[in-house]
Amino acid sequence: MGTPRISRRAALAAAAAGAAVSQVATPVFGAAAAAGADAIVVGGGLAGLVATSELVAAGKTVVLLDQEPESGLGGQAFWSFGGLFFVDSAEQRLMGVKDSRDLAWQDWLGTAGFDRGIDTPGGQDYWAYRWAQAYVDFASGEKRSWLAGLGMQWFPFVGWAERGGGLGDGHGNSVPRFHVTWGTGPAVVEPFEKKVREGVAAGKVVLKFRHRVDEIVKTGGAVTGVRGAVLEPSTVARGKPSSRTVAGNFELSAPVVIVTSGGIGANHDLIRQNWPARLGPAPRTMITGVPAHVDGRMLGITQTAGARLVNPDRMWHYTEGLRNYEPIWPGHGIRILPGPSSMWFDATGKRFRAPDWPGYDTLHTLGSITASGYDYSWFVSTQKIVDKEFALSGSEQNPDLTEKNVWKLLTRIWQTPEPVQRFQRYGADFVQATTLPELVSGMNRIAGNNLINLADLKRQIDARDREMDNSYSKDAQVMGIRNALSYPGDSLSRTAAAHKILDPSAGPLVAVRLNILTRKTLGGLQTDLQGRVLNAAGAAIPGLYAAGEVSGFGGGGVHGYRSLEGTFLGGCIFSGRQAGRAAAAAL
Ligand SMILES: Cc1cc2nc3c(=O)[nH]c(=O)nc-3n(C[C@H](O)[C@H](O)[C@H](O)COP(=O)(O)OP(=O)(O)OC[C@H]3O[C@@H](n4cnc5c(N)ncnc54)[C@H](O)[C@@H]3O)c2cc1C
Repeated sequence: MGTPRISRRAALAAAAAGAAVSQVATPVFGAAAAAGADAIVVGGGLAGLVATSELVAAGKTVVLLDQEPESGLGGQAFWSFGGLFFVDSAEQRLMGVKDSRDLAWQDWLGTAGFDRGIDTPGGQDYWAYRWAQAYVDFASGEKRSWLAGLGMQWFPFVGWAERGGGLGDGHGNSVPRFHVTWGTGPAVVEPFEKKVREGVAAGKVVLKFRHRVDEIVKTGGAVTGVRGAVLEPSTVARGKPSSRTVAGNFELSAPVVIVTSGGIGANHDLIRQNWPARLGPAPRTMITGVPAHVDGRMLGITQTAGARLVNPDRMWHYTEGLRNYEPIWPGHGIRILPGPSSMWFDATGKRFRAPDWPGYDTLHTLGSITASGYDYSWFVSTQKIVDKEFALSGSEQNPDLTEKNVWKLLTRIWQTPEPVQRFQRYGADFVQATTLPELVSGMNRIAGNNLINLADLKRQIDARDREMDNSYSKDAQVMGIRNALSYPGDSLSRTAAAHKILDPSAGPLVAVRLNILTRKTLGGLQTDLQGRVLNAAGAAIPGLYAAGEVSGFGGGGVHGYRSLEGTFLGGCIFSGRQAGRAAAAAL
């Protein structure tokens, strides 16, 4: 690593003598309070904040390290839409949704498809399966009341994400379960950041930004601390990539180290390296749904310390990515959270088949896109559909919800949401036209080829439109639209009244080029239910814990192959809580 080796005793002695953190000198040491801490938490995202707050609640002292400047505290969760998976919540009941723990478990199992040794202690899915049981219990039990007790509230129209592949015991949510937090991602981060800052004020927590961990230190088989680089100071705004210029080194010791460093979503090389054959060839072009700090480095660093990495080929990338005309991080893409009505075509203009409808089965659609031989696909829609059904994921793309501004929120009733309008105006992926020939020439212009054939596209749209003449149909997507309209949450806010795509009164026509957008890591460090990191033999590595995305949100893959959505923030909260509580109890 190029980092000078410093003995634990020397580090503690130097720190006790009052050596301050230096941004330049080599070697440098943590402040005295930091050196004597009970635990080191690596990563100030949601999982790290939750783990830290639990340790503090148990009276322990913590050093929380992050490679980013203070502006980035909260990590990805700050940018998130704040969607949370609850089962049988007050909001669901208000919307008339009948849900239960049994139904959620049926859906989780059908979605996860665990097939890697759930009954074999050495199996990659052994702990993942047990985490899934515990997580579904949490989401059906105390999750909502616990978070509500911390001040969180949710938008009453529960969203219906990942409607699945068509079978009751298969993939997908049987009922709507996506609860958008009032205040979106920042409001999910807020209560935990508050607790951590109270810990700072009480002298229980030391925050060390621009501290990048490069090595986990072990003494006699137990983890005893971390080593790394102090990066030069940075004033970049939240989400912007910060410099990696090293200004010094550090080493810190503690009997507990909790790794909460996030996934691999910004590291396209690592994504391609782990890309599974079942999803077809790895895309040549992808846009990036997470900030640059989601670099995946700590996975390899923790493996070097003896950790077992499982299910690295399981990942969760979206198929409805827009190139951001105002990027915050490199290659920044934004996901459309689609309603069910847009027609979906591959790059050659061939309509996808079930279950590749908008919002149904993310990874099946991803496989269909890569099978087409291209890295993109098309929505063909109407302005009427765009107005009601296009939502954009991300706190900054939903200023009404993020700012808790009821007036702005109400404007969604009579106008296209402002952020969607801006993408229509400035985004590189939108075409708008009053006639189909114009639309097709716009699509071919954007793609830089001639793959969309007007007559063939028209034939497929006409065929679908004829299926609208009766209230019943053989077209599975049209059936899905009518099904959505029977759920009040969809008919009120997320599904346009059924209409023909070529009905001029629903126009103008809109086509959107959809890119593959990287996001979540479903595999990771294998952990037991206490968040203890396991080695290749299945034994806990003394002193080492992990939580959040780096641990596959618990157990190295709580989601299995796929997600029901809204399960990632909750996965950070649950796994961060488990690891923080277990580590505190072990100290
Ligand atoms: C735009 C967007 C929308 C989303 N919407 C939702 C949603 O609605 N619902 C949902 O459930 N999920 C959503 N997610 C996913 C969810 O936000 C993330 O999965 C989750 O926040 C990950 O948290 P984490 O704490 O595990 O990791 P991160 O947030 O990635 O934090 C890890 C931290 O560790 C630091 N770090 C990494 N390596 C080192 C190192 N070597 N040394 C020191 N520090 C290090 C990083 O700088 C970072 O601050 C969304 C994500 C995005 C980006």
